Amino acid sequence: MANPCATNRDGPRTKRRRSESAEGSSLALAATTKFTRFEHLWFSDGNVVLQAQHTQFRVHCTLLSTQSTFLKKIFTAIQPKTSTTDSSELIEGCPLIRLTDSAADWKNVLETVYLGLAVTKWRGPIKVSRLVAMLRLGHKYDFAHLKEEGLDRLMAVYPDNLETFMGARNGVDLEWDGGWTFCDLVNLAIELRLQRLLPALYLRAMCSMAFTMTELLYDGLTRSPGGERVKIHPSAHKALVMGRDAIIARMHTDIFGFLSSVYEWRSPTDTSASTELGFQDCTSPECRRSKGLIHYHVFVPTTQLHAIFMNWDSHQLGQGICDECRRDIDLWGARNRLWEALPQIFFLGNEWKDLKNFDCDSDLHRSAVP
Ligand SMILES: [Zn+2]
Repeated sequence: MANPCATNRDGPRTKRRRSESAEGSSLALAATTKFTRFEHLWFSDGNVVLQAQHTQFRVHCTLLSTQSTFLKKIFTAIQPKTSTTDSSELIEGCPLIRLTDSAADWKNVLETVYLGLAVTKWRGPIKVSRLVAMLRLGHKYDFAHLKEEGLDRLMAVYPDNLETFMGARNGVDLEWDGGWTFCDLVNLAIELRLQRLLPALYLRAMCSMAFTMTELLYDGLTRSPGGERVKIHPSAHKALVMGRDAIIARMHTDIFGFLSSVYEWRSPTDTSASTELGFQDCTSPECRRSKGLIHYHVFVPTTQLHAIFMNWDSHQLGQGICDECRRDIDLWGARNRLWEALPQIFFLGNEWKDLKNFDCDSDLHRSAVP
């Protein structure tokens, strides 16, 4: 697969390049388009104008340079040219920098830089639109602190360790504003190659009661308002389809192995165990009934993957399991084995240590420095 990062790494443009047809068409649009000044981020003493789509922001080189090493290089490069710059490139005496990103992303990032706690509390939910902007532009323009904070916030919900995953409140630390859907979040993780985030995202997708796998894989999830359907990136299909099969197989053989007195799942070629193959039911009627109920809740009519993370050993349905069978229950051990296998199960790598976030060429955008 082509590096998804490369598709969204156009740098800012400070000069017009009429030789490129796409550029030419955008310039034709610019000539007839009225640009909107974003009032809350239009400072009378600002000394540079950033333009994204049809929105302009008058901001400060010095402040943004402390946040973004990439912008600092751009500002340093354009300052000496200001006195000789074509007047059409100046707005109220400020150099104009055209950016190829969305106006919404820049609004979110500049609001976070300028307004800080007024728009994002240290604690409490964070808007997904702001989180996306912090990660996407934070990575592209080297807003190191925004990128780190955005990643920390997202990994608190979709972590790279089992204990946090078990304790994480699925999505409630995120405010799903602007119609963002779970598909958007998975697609962002794929776009930015947040490899350590993907296993938890995929696992949450499979365990979600909010949508079906059919909706996730084929129909897409609906943005609200607007009704636009967002489909998950095709590169996630193999991980979700084959990964789900692999996890269900583990549920039968390992995670819910304590139900094995109902059926013996050992391979016919495995001669190491002393017990015989076949129906190995416990002699306690109460224990058999408890196991039967758990089996029904987990596997009927279809396998419920969220059952992996329920505490069956202390659940009321598990209360009737006899002491002898209870010794076979090792949910945490099985969960840990599953967690360690997730990189392989989702075709991301052999081990967790192989997975990196922002696992792409960080120098892709360097060529855009003017
Ligand atoms: Zn028993």
